[in-house]
Amino acid sequence: MTFRRCAGALAGLALLAAAGFVHAAEPKPVPKLVVVVSVDQFSANLFSQYRSRFTGGLHVIAEQGLTYANGWQSHMGTETCPGHSTILTGKHPNKTGIPANDWVDPVTGKEVYCFTNTANVLADPLGGGNGPVGPDNMVATTLGDWLKAASPASRVFGVSGKDRGAIAMAGHHADGVYWWREGFGFTTFVEPGQTAVDRLAPVAALNAELKARFAAQPPGWAYAQEACRKLEGDYVIAGEAWHTTVPPRRFAFDTSPLLDEVTVEAALRLLADQKLGAGPATDLLAISLSGTDRIGHSFGTQGPEMCEQMYRLDTALGTLTRALESVPGGAVLVLTADHGGSDFPERLAQRGYPQARRVDFKIIERLNAGLKARFKLEVDPVAYDGSGLMIVGKGKVRLPQPLRGKIAKAAVEMLASEPDVEAAFLLDDLLKTPAPPAGTPPELFTLQQRAALSAVAGRSPDVAVILKWGVFPLRAKVGGAISTHGSAWDYDRRVPILMWWPGASGQERMLSVDTTDIAPTLAHLIGVTAPADIDGRCLDLGGFAVAACPAPAPAAAAPEPQKPGFRWPWEKN
Ligand SMILES: [Zn+2]
Repeated sequence: MTFRRCAGALAGLALLAAAGFVHAAEPKPVPKLVVVVSVDQFSANLFSQYRSRFTGGLHVIAEQGLTYANGWQSHMGTETCPGHSTILTGKHPNKTGIPANDWVDPVTGKEVYCFTNTANVLADPLGGGNGPVGPDNMVATTLGDWLKAASPASRVFGVSGKDRGAIAMAGHHADGVYWWREGFGFTTFVEPGQTAVDRLAPVAALNAELKARFAAQPPGWAYAQEACRKLEGDYVIAGEAWHTTVPPRRFAFDTSPLLDEVTVEAALRLLADQKLGAGPATDLLAISLSGTDRIGHSFGTQGPEMCEQMYRLDTALGTLTRALESVPGGAVLVLTADHGGSDFPERLAQRGYPQARRVDFKIIERLNAGLKARFKLEVDPVAYDGSGLMIVGKGKVRLPQPLRGKIAKAAVEMLASEPDVEAAFLLDDLLKTPAPPAGTPPELFTLQQRAALSAVAGRSPDVAVILKWGVFPLRAKVGGAISTHGSAWDYDRRVPILMWWPGASGQERMLSVDTTDIAPTLAHLIGVTAPADIDGRCLDLGGFAVAACPAPAPAAAAPEPQKPGFRWPWEKN
């Protein structure tokens, strides 16, 4: 179209508008329901791979809403607990206090699960799993907490396939936090003074229905999408031949699309039964869908299993978007992920990434042999927890200073000659590393800055280790986990951030935003105050009858380094 014809068309539009035929959409009133969905392990790569094939909820959300294809979980420790902790706190893991899914307590030498809470009990009698849990290990507050402080009548619910997905997003004062446990249904934690029956009441009827349904027809998995069948293939993993197909050799509910389907069903039940978005105060429903992660770990991302999962997730989310269209007070939905992911290294290596491989775990043996001799130690001083090294004595209790610091430094030097290792950083240095200057896009963060965003005093390992691009810290076993995430690389850090509400008109926003931007954006929309020390920034959504986001505060001349604030018992004075 020439400029002249284009200008003519615009003039014509202006005339039509003046005549009342075309008009800008009226700003919508502020919605009374906020729904935040985290699709566990939904990398930006996976989203773009399937985007054109979605016809259900993901199609509606991505094509009618605001699509940020370049969202970032910008820290290094790209795991479920830290990733979920950023979404509704507006803070990176170094400020949520959740650096990893597990860490080793420096004083006891015992492994600690991210949301362990021994003051609570579980509402179900199954035992095992992650044991009693609760939100207390997370030191940051969430959007739901800010909302409850502003309007106590607001209701906050969380539901997930995993305890950590629900707890991290629902926050400290939720009305209900539920996650799926096979053999029981949706469960929760019970705090002192509460009863399991009361806490489970909102999901009791659904649990009974699901139990009867699966007793009448045991759950299974057959192809729902014939198009996925052509992705079948044969691989050899750790010496074992494996044919990828649906149903997989060992069907499990938790590693099938059924997990997200029941989780969405539970979310819809809470929406209807609790009349969310129908009261005078704004409500929050946080949904974490774990199926993509479980399937990614078990089967990788490029086989028939993930293909089936993507189509069925899209269908399940369609039931959610349809339900949100009739929420009386209006609804807004944000969909993102706790971290990304990639395929398993054997298939990557076949597909043009010859550097993709599993880490040589003998690194730890080599480190221990060298350090033991050099420092004349009786026990191995290095323990590896998946993201770094702990410098320990007997019973994995951390060694005292200054010995611990000297061994850590020597370990960093030794790692420099390991071919699987890209970089290693001392925790003490990471705790002093300033945050990246405001406005720096996450893809430009240095490796040290990424690692610093995951560094928590008293919880993170003494040495953060970044493996080479395409090197995975996982042993393989067909039938167990063969693929993983958790690295500082962009395949694990880049996630979609999609914002949608009924009546939204599609808009692509292609430059980077961070998952820490979600909470301040929603807080601004619904008129609650976020804490002053959050990392994220408010993003203008448009379309609602609210003022534009306030201008960001001018950047400080020199950012404050993180204060360690933690002393080992033997360092107290
Ligand atoms: Zn995972």
